Amino acid sequence: MNITSYVNNDSQFQLFHGKMSIQFDYSIVNADEKIYKYLGCNSGRPFTTLVHPDDLPAFYECVERLDEGTQYLTLRFFSIDEKYRFLYVIMNKGKDSIDMEIVDIANNHKKFDMLRDGAFKNKKFMNYSDNIYFEYFYDSRTINIFEYVNDRGIVLFNRNIDVLYNEIVNSRSYTKKQKQGFGLLYDSLTEGKDNLSLSLDGSIFGIAKCMLDIKGGIIYKYGKRLLFAAVVNKTEYEQAEESEDRYYKSSHAIDLATGVYNKRAISELAVDILSSLDGKRHYVMMIDIDDFKNVNDTYGHMTGDEVIVKTAELFKRYVGERGYVGRFGGDEFFVITDNIADEESLTYMLKTIRKNLSWDCRDIVPDFEITTSIGVACYPEAGKTYDELLMIADKCLYLAKTKGKNRYIIYRPELHGDIENIKSNKMVALNNFYEDNYQLCSIAMSVMSDIRDPNVSVEWCIDRIRQEFGIDGVAIYQGKDFIRTISAGEYPAPLTDAAFLNDSTKDALFDMNGVLCVNKLLSIKEKWEDIYQKLEAQGNVNLFITKEDSIAVSYDLFSRFRKWSNVERGLLMMIGKALIKKLADISE
Ligand code: GH3
Ligand code: MG
Repeated sequence: MNITSYVNNDSQFQLFHGKMSIQFDYSIVNADEKIYKYLGCNSGRPFTTLVHPDDLPAFYECVERLDEGTQYLTLRFFSIDEKYRFLYVIMNKGKDSIDMEIVDIANNHKKFDMLRDGAFKNKKFMNYSDNIYFEYFYDSRTINIFEYVNDRGIVLFNRNIDVLYNEIVNSRSYTKKQKQGFGLLYDSLTEGKDNLSLSLDGSIFGIAKCMLDIKGGIIYKYGKRLLFAAVVNKTEYEQAEESEDRYYKSSHAIDLATGVYNKRAISELAVDILSSLDGKRHYVMMIDIDDFKNVNDTYGHMTGDEVIVKTAELFKRYVGERGYVGRFGGDEFFVITDNIADEESLTYMLKTIRKNLSWDCRDIVPDFEITTSIGVACYPEAGKTYDELLMIADKCLYLAKTKGKNRYIIYRPELHGDIENIKSNKMVALNNFYEDNYQLCSIAMSVMSDIRDPNVSVEWCIDRIRQEFGIDGVAIYQGKDFIRTISAGEYPAPLTDAAFLNDSTKDALFDMNGVLCVNKLLSIKEKWEDIYQKLEAQGNVNLFITKEDSIAVSYDLFSRFRKWSNVERGLLMMIGKALIKKLADISE
């Protein structure tokens, strides 16, 4: 049916919404004044005689179902002007009546159009003013600031007032005056003051270099506060530089390339934080991008710059409101936290950064995994002054680099030795590191002498290598087609050959020592699809092959991912070469 035929344009009255009760014999017993007006002389007639005959079955069905709960239906209903109108009816069973809420759909449609036209007219006018509009919703406790451009509200700011409060009150980036101004606004809004007229610094809402005059009042709905609405007048001002004598609050404090604090700013900020005796724990972190020179060498300096910018942005995002990020220079960053209570929360954040960084940079450097090394020192446990904490964090960073990069190291005296020792470069963990590598080298020497011994078999040698170096599998490929001849370890799905090595175009992949080593197999997926497919099918998570003429040694990891350290790389290459020589001697 066509609902527009039930619109009464010539109507004297409007029924938008009303309530009515009928008895079980369908006589009307109680109704709003609006409804009686609507019914006119028909109010004495039973309800069912006023319903359009075609809609009666649906009505009776709903009456029968009233015991199941609220019923909803649309029906045509006879009105004062002897015309049917389209009503939406909500029916509920009362104690001894049927209670109904009634809405005239066609009329409401008209009302909606009217309101929409009104709103549009207002928007149009709002467009012609230079004003900004401010709203605060009592329910969600959010502030919206917007401006009208081409009849559309452009949101300039949208935040929860409590989150904003914590951010501003706990931040050192705002002046006392800015904080006080925001405090006044916060109190007025949250206490629900009826009218408000306040002048505030726009930077609180990210609207820089201007004062905002906010004037407005509360809008109520059904007697309840709905929102605070205000008009905002903006007056721009020249940045009053150094209104407080802190460099990090000035406009020079930001590293222009990356948007984080520059070295002077972040250092001064850190000194202030650490000397404020706020009773809180603060973590000082030194961060350096791993193998960044390779990014420059492979992709050029422009791409290198992009990686630096992205890394700064990511640290800023992941640290968020919990601290401050600065760039010390080059690929080196510094973070001081202001809102991380314990090491558990800190490691949670650091793990997220570690996991996400290379993924987040994948569009800039598709075949390169961006990772960072991070050294962390905690105030007050590790040290009390900026210089002391920086020195420790820096040493931990150095340790992270020597241990194979892509990791964070948080200073712990029981692990790394006491601070006096660190000052004089006697870091326990670093000594352990040399100790570990010394042991690895001794093992390598002993393996080498086994390999050189003609009485020791290749099988025995490769199984020893596998065990001593913690490798899942070692395989030898030989001949023109690089057929797999010997292996150690349990391969999930061993390759029968590595024929992809018999392709001179692939020679360029090997370095001058005949080594092809990639820490993450996935990173070669696009470039060397065939090698990727083969090794992935075998179960590999990375790739380390050393090759000479028609013999290749492959070190394989499938059970877990780890980066090969530089020391391991060197030793495994040397061992691989010795094995190849042994195999060549045997076949001669
Ligand atoms: P490591 O893992 O030991 O940190 O190795 P790395 O290659 O990252 O070495 P390091 O941190 O010592 O060197 C960083 C290099 O970054 C040195 C310099 O050539 C380069 N670099 C410094 N500043 C910039 C910059 O602003 N843009 C670019 N593209 N490169 C920079
Ligand atoms: Mg670096």
